[in-house]
Amino acid sequence: MGKLDGKVALISGGARGQGAAEAHVFTREGAKVVFGDVRDAEGAQVEAAVRAEGGDAVYVHLDVTVEADWDKAVRTATERYGKLDVLVNNAGIVIPRVPIEERTAEEWDRVMAINAKGVFLGTKYAIPAMRRAGGGSIVNISSVAGIGQSAHQEPAYAASKGAIRIFTKVTASQHARDRIRCNSVHPGPVDTEMLHSAMRDPEVLRRRLERVPLGRMGTIDEVVKAVLYLASDDASYVTGAELVIDGGALAQ
Ligand code: NAD
Repeated sequence: MGKLDGKVALISGGARGQGAAEAHVFTREGAKVVFGDVRDAEGAQVEAAVRAEGGDAVYVHLDVTVEADWDKAVRTATERYGKLDVLVNNAGIVIPRVPIEERTAEEWDRVMAINAKGVFLGTKYAIPAMRRAGGGSIVNISSVAGIGQSAHQEPAYAASKGAIRIFTKVTASQHARDRIRCNSVHPGPVDTEMLHSAMRDPEVLRRRLERVPLGRMGTIDEVVKAVLYLASDDASYVTGAELVIDGGALAQ
């Protein structure tokens, strides 16, 4: 028996990294999955790989900043698979840190649009479908940057991830009566292309990992297990919570 048997899930940012792994793991656990991204060629490859191992998943073009794309993605779930039970707001970007006076308003707006507004739009379109399904689970991927380690964070990224953290609690509080749970996940450094593109210099990565008591990056698998837990009925009494997966970084 799978942990997501009978459930229909929508995942944003699913063409690579953690989102692509979630598409694989969720279908192995019995879910039917719609996943979206702006990387259409990579998304199509992930869809083919999931189907090759017997999973039922479909890729859609989903720019999380575009309202019409969310409308279409949620419709794909409800029309193709009959309902929507789970949303993972996973899509996100990080930008290199520069002195604040060099950060442009356009760069700030872009980070906030993808990381924060994207979560709002996903929630806006998922909630009515989840109400019709009798309830659901929303998992928002924030970061340790949304909680602390503030001396080291890129300001726009940290602000966007902090917005996700409190928006999660508002969603949990205001939609508990709809039987919709909402929780946030706060990974530390995870071994994905995002991390390596942000820390090309091995010395920068080494210094980053010095601030992690377990002394290493997290794996995609270690984050996906937590996302699966929050998405599933195993977490039926968990809502408004923040699950930190950071090798102890925030404990210091
Ligand atoms: P990743 O870069 O491999 O994956 C992010 C995905 O989001 C990509 O496929 C990208 O195309 C997609 N995306 C970007 N803009 C988009 C848009 N406008 N619409 C739809 N999709 C878009 O990185 P990842 O590590 O798998 O990141 C997943 C989530 O985890 C992100 O929200 C990230 O902020 C968060 N996170 C990552 C780390 C880390 O160290 N890797 C740490 C903490 C939090």
